[in-house]
Amino acid sequence: MVFIKTVLFDIDGTILRCNGAGKKAMVMASEEVYGTRGLMEEYNFQGRTDSLILRESLIPAGISENTLTAGLDRFKERYFSLLEGLIREYDVVLLPGVEDLLRALNGRDDVFVGLLTGNYAEGARIKLSRFGLNGYFRTGVFADDTAIRNEMPCIARERLKSDHGWNCDFRDIYIIGDTIYDLECARTWGAVSVAVATGWTGRDVLLSQEPDYFFEHLGDTAAVLEIFEKDIIPVLRDQELPSAGSEYRP
Ligand SMILES: [Mg+2]
Repeated sequence: MVFIKTVLFDIDGTILRCNGAGKKAMVMASEEVYGTRGLMEEYNFQGRTDSLILRESLIPAGISENTLTAGLDRFKERYFSLLEGLIREYDVVLLPGVEDLLRALNGRDDVFVGLLTGNYAEGARIKLSRFGLNGYFRTGVFADDTAIRNEMPCIARERLKSDHGWNCDFRDIYIIGDTIYDLECARTWGAVSVAVATGWTGRDVLLSQEPDYFFEHLGDTAAVLEIFEKDIIPVLRDQELPSAGSEYRP
């Protein structure tokens, strides 16, 4: 028997800020594949999944379901290729304290670290590779899994069970994010919501959602680690922990 908590990080605004690189790659790929950027200029990307952004930008602009589906593989291929280049051209910023926190969490055997992000899995890998962070994450839920962020905690829990043999309680899953959508998806399933104000959502808006925990930033590693000290629930497991750096799957 071990004591396990799972912490799932959002990427944009929580781990790093792409400062336009992701949006630019998506707009360029969409124009190449579908001949239009649709409503992407006006669309608020924050907290939305890549698959939802694509759908809600293009369908109202006259792209049919069939055309959207038929072009999806090529869109992703172009998006990932463009993102690989732009992520190194733009002023992409690693947010304060993130790497120290990831290192500290990975050094513990009672906390399991993963991703819960609106990015496609390959987009997530590319963004994290900018700072060499992929090895810290042992599981993940991505836009390839669902376009609906509120479904993601449930998928994460199922994946912990199918991949690692854990019957994890939602109250032992911590979701760290910078938007009200991250908090909402945690609340929907009774997971622990952790708000961080390093994205584009103001602290007052985040606090109005009554997150379980709030941080201006993740720069104080000791303060963030404290939230994992409470209410530890013993969880039976029948598989060994995979080593840090094990590949996560989309
Ligand atoms: Mg975010």
